[in-house]
Amino acid sequence: MTIPICEIAFPVDVMQTFTYRVPDRFKKQLKPGCRVIAPFGSRHQPGYCISVSESDPDKLPKGLKSLSEIRDETPLFTPEQMQLFHWMAFYYMAPPGLVLKAAHPSEAGFKKEIRYFPAPDMAAHPEIQRLNIPPDGLPESSLNTMPPDTVKQVQSLLKQQILIADNVFSVERTTRMVKAVRLTDLFARGEHPSHVKILAALKSRAIPEATLSDLMRETGVSRSVFQTLEKKGVLESFNQEIPSDPFTGAYVPKNREIVLTNEQIQVIEEITAHFDRFYPVLLHGVTGSGKTEVYIHLANEAIKRGKQALILVPEIAITPHVAGRFRSVFGKKVAIWHSRMSAGERIWTWQSIRRGDIQVVVGARSALFSPFPRPGLIVVDEEHDASFKQQEQSPGYHGRDAAIYYARLLKIPVILGSATPSVESWYLAQTGKYHLLTLKERFGSAGYPQVDLIDLRTKNPGETLFTREMLEALRECVKRGEQAIVLHNRRGFHTFVRCEHCGQPVECPHCSVSMTWHKPWQKLVCHYCDHQEPLPAVCPSCGDASLRVAGSGTQRIEDELVKRIKDARVIRMDLDSTRGRHAHVKILNTFENKNFDILLGTQMVSKGLDFSNVTLVCIVNADTGLGIPDFRSAERVWQLVAQVSGRSGRGTLPGRVIIQSWQPEHPAVNLAARLDVRAFYQQELERRKHLLYPPFSRLILIRVTGKDRERVITAIKQLENICKHQMPPEQVLGPSSAPVERVKEFYRWQILLKFKRNEDENMNRIKTILIRILQDRRNRMPGLKITLNADP
Ligand code: ADP
Ligand code: ZN
Repeated sequence: MTIPICEIAFPVDVMQTFTYRVPDRFKKQLKPGCRVIAPFGSRHQPGYCISVSESDPDKLPKGLKSLSEIRDETPLFTPEQMQLFHWMAFYYMAPPGLVLKAAHPSEAGFKKEIRYFPAPDMAAHPEIQRLNIPPDGLPESSLNTMPPDTVKQVQSLLKQQILIADNVFSVERTTRMVKAVRLTDLFARGEHPSHVKILAALKSRAIPEATLSDLMRETGVSRSVFQTLEKKGVLESFNQEIPSDPFTGAYVPKNREIVLTNEQIQVIEEITAHFDRFYPVLLHGVTGSGKTEVYIHLANEAIKRGKQALILVPEIAITPHVAGRFRSVFGKKVAIWHSRMSAGERIWTWQSIRRGDIQVVVGARSALFSPFPRPGLIVVDEEHDASFKQQEQSPGYHGRDAAIYYARLLKIPVILGSATPSVESWYLAQTGKYHLLTLKERFGSAGYPQVDLIDLRTKNPGETLFTREMLEALRECVKRGEQAIVLHNRRGFHTFVRCEHCGQPVECPHCSVSMTWHKPWQKLVCHYCDHQEPLPAVCPSCGDASLRVAGSGTQRIEDELVKRIKDARVIRMDLDSTRGRHAHVKILNTFENKNFDILLGTQMVSKGLDFSNVTLVCIVNADTGLGIPDFRSAERVWQLVAQVSGRSGRGTLPGRVIIQSWQPEHPAVNLAARLDVRAFYQQELERRKHLLYPPFSRLILIRVTGKDRERVITAIKQLENICKHQMPPEQVLGPSSAPVERVKEFYRWQILLKFKRNEDENMNRIKTILIRILQDRRNRMPGLKITLNADP
C-alpha cells in the first residue's frame, strides 16, 4: 500500500523543498502549481505544490506532517510553466519558492494575520463554546477590545493548547482605493442647491453611489460640502476598491496605415512557416526598419491560430511606448506588465489574462510568466538590453534566455530583435543555433543619419562641455523647428566633489564610491545607497577648505543648454526626473507633441523611441562607461552609441548625429560611429575568445557579503578552494573585491568561474555543490551572505 505525498516550495530564501502527506480529502484537487498551506517551523505557511506522488509509508520519515489547506481549485500554472520554473531554480541556483513567487504577482499581497482556533477535537469544550469563535478564527488583534477577564481566559486556553494560534493568509486585493459616496434616506430630502445637485447626480446612476472625485467634477460642489453632509449623517462615504487598467494614462499613438515592405513580408513568411515548432530567430534590423510592425503582424497570426503572444521589452522606459503601438492595433486584447505597476494593477492584469480576455502581453522580463493557456509566440525586443537580467534579487534569471528555454518547451517560435544584438546572440546566429533574419532598410524615405565624430582632445580653448560644432548644430535644429535628443549617461549635476588640496573625492560614508552633487537640492547623493548630505565645509579626508565640484551630469548639461541655446525648450529624462508613476509617459508625450525642442537624458533616451521630428542626436561624451570593469563594457558603449544614433532622422527629414569623444579611436566608439556592425562583432568576438568570455564560456559569479571584512575574505577563499578542487584551477578567477567593495556598510568579495561551452556537465556538477553549500550556509558561514549568479 502507498500513501499520497507532495513536495512544497515555500516563498522564502531556502533552497530545499519539503515533503508532506496529502490528506485524502485533498487528493483529487491537489496538482503541481496549486498553492497550499502547510505547517512549517512553528507556524502554518503558504507554499506552492511542485509535485505529487505516492510513496511506501515505511520509506517515509516518522512524523511526516500533513497539508492543512489547499488554496486553489485549479493550478495557477501550466505544466510547461512548472517545468520552466524547475529549470530556472537549478540553472540560476535560486530557491524554488522564490522562482514561483516571482512568477505570481499577487503573492506579494499575501496578508498575514494570526487568529485563534479551537485545537483539534476541542470545538465542543465549554470554554470554547462560551467564547463563540467565528469559523475563520478569532483575530489576535481582537484581544485589544476584549474585557480583561476574557483576555485572561483566552491566554489561559492558549497555554493549555485548547486554543491554538494559527496564521491566516488572505490575498490582499489592493486595487486602487477611492472615496465613494452613497445616498442615505435622509438625504433624499435635500433642499439646499448643492444638495439637490448631488442628489440628481447620484440618482442618475443605476446604483446611487459614485466616486467622490467624479461627483465633485460633475456637480462643481466642493469637498467641504461633502464633508459637512457626511458629518450630518445625510451622506455616507466609504472606500471602494476599483480594479485598475494600467493602461490608464498611457501613450497610445494613432493607428497608421501599414503596407508591409518586401523585406518585412519575407521575415513574416519565414516565421509563420515555422509556427508549430521551436524556431529561434535573431531578427537583426536597424532602428526604424519596421521590426515592431513585424511583431504586431506575427502577434496577429498567433491570435488567428487561437494562441497568445508574449512581447518582452526592456524595463520601464519603453514599455508604455511599445505597448501603445500594440494597443492601437489590438485594443483591449493587449495588457501591459512592468515593475512600476501597483499590486492592484498586477492582479487586474493577471486575472484578465487567466480569464482569457487578453491575447497579447507587452511587458518587462517577468511578463514571460503571464498565465496564458497557449502561448504561440515569444518576442524579445531589444534583446541585447541589460535590464533583461534580474539583478540583486533572486532568481537572477535572464528574461531572454528563459524565453528561449520556454519556447523550446512550448515548441513555438521565439524572436530576438535588435539593431545591435548582444555578442552572444550574434555568435549563436553565426553558428547556426539561431536563424538570422535581417531587415536592412530603414522604413520609407528615412535614410541613415550622417555621423560626425569629434575628438575632444582637439577642442578649442573656451569650449566647455559642448564643442562649437555641437552647439551650432543644436541651434540650427531648434531654429528649423525640428527636435534633438542629447545623450549624457551620468545623472546629477556635477558628478563628484574633489578636494584640490589632497585630490580625494568626497565618498559616501557607507559605500566605497564618490557621491554625486545634485544642484537643485543642494545635496551630495550616493547613487548606491541614496545617502544624502549637504556639501561639507572642509574636506573629510584632509580638513582643507578646498572642495571643488567637478565632472558633469545631466542636470549641469541642462543648465548649459538653456544658457547657450536661446529659446530652446529642454526636457530632461533621467532617474531623478522620472520617479513619479507616469513620469516617463508624460515626458515622452510632451516631447512627441513638440512642446519641447530638446530631449536630454541618460541611456533612457536611447531606447525604443520613435519620433519622426528628431533630426539631430548629440552624444556629449561617448566614452562614459568604457572604464567600467566589466567584460561587456565595450559592447555596452557600442550599443548605446549605435542605438541613440538610430533615433535621428526616422521620419522624412534627414538625420544627423554628432558624437564627442576623448577616445575616438576606441573600437566601440569608432565602429558605432561608422555604423559598422560586422566589424564590431568580429573584433569583439576575437577578444572574447582570447579571454575565454561568453559566448565562448559560461560564467558563474560567487559573491560573499558581510560586515566583517576579514570574515568575508576568509569565506570567499574557502569557496575558491572548493571550486579549484572541482575544476581547472586557472578557470577560477579571484578572489577579488567587487568593483565597489563596500555598499551600505557591507563588504563584498567575489570569485568568477569560467566554463567552456563543452563543460556543461562539469558546470552542473558544481552548481549542485554550490546549491548544497547555500542550503547549509547558516551553519557554515553564519552572518555572511552568499550570492550565486549564473551568466552575470
Ligand atoms: P523598429 O522597431 O525596427 O525600430 P518600427 O517598427 O518602429 O521600427 O518602424 C519605424 C517606423 O516606420 C514606425 O513609425 C512604423 O510605424 C513605420 N513603419 C514600419 N513599417 C511600416 C510599413 N510597412 N508601413 C507603414 N509604416 C511602417
Ligand atoms: Zn552609499
